[in-house]
Amino acid sequence: MTYSQPDLPYANDALEPVISRETIEYHYGKHEKAYIDNLNKLIVGSGFEDMELEDVIREADGALYNNASQAWNHIFYFFSFSPEGGGRPTGRLAKAIDETFGSFDNFKKAFVDAGTGLFGSGWVWLSRDNDGKLFITQGSNAANPLTDGLTPLLTFDVWEHAYYIDYRNARASYLDKLWDIVDWDVVESRY
Ligand code: MN
Repeated sequence: MTYSQPDLPYANDALEPVISRETIEYHYGKHEKAYIDNLNKLIVGSGFEDMELEDVIREADGALYNNASQAWNHIFYFFSFSPEGGGRPTGRLAKAIDETFGSFDNFKKAFVDAGTGLFGSGWVWLSRDNDGKLFITQGSNAANPLTDGLTPLLTFDVWEHAYYIDYRNARASYLDKLWDIVDWDVVESRY
């Protein structure tokens, strides 16, 4: 199967000032495109050609795993945002967050702390297990909670390429601002 890069559900400048048009053009237009192009090259002859991308991530290793996971992670990340985002979750997810972390504010702090505490490049994740229990995890490079049997709900990219144009070295400021564009309807639908 040939993987393609979906168009974003918003204009390149629609997430400003949180994420600039220039960051979208580089991060989604160049970095993410390169992961998908590499995935399409590496999957030929790998024996994984006919698998769903999530299964490639669960089973592959090396360069194929890295590019498959990065291809998936970026689509998941960019499709978690909306110019009408922000606020807080409602419904079952809000209840689970309160039960697990004490409050929505506590959850946000723990999530940002996990992102700022990750040394080097990677991702911070909110995931659920098969019983609906919530977990915040951090992972280096192309890490994805799918390989731990978890279902991802939300991720923030903490590679420098995600924030260096807009925030320079201020990773914590970037992570704090992302809450303004999170589309909680999308996140809730994954729960
Ligand atoms: Mn990235």
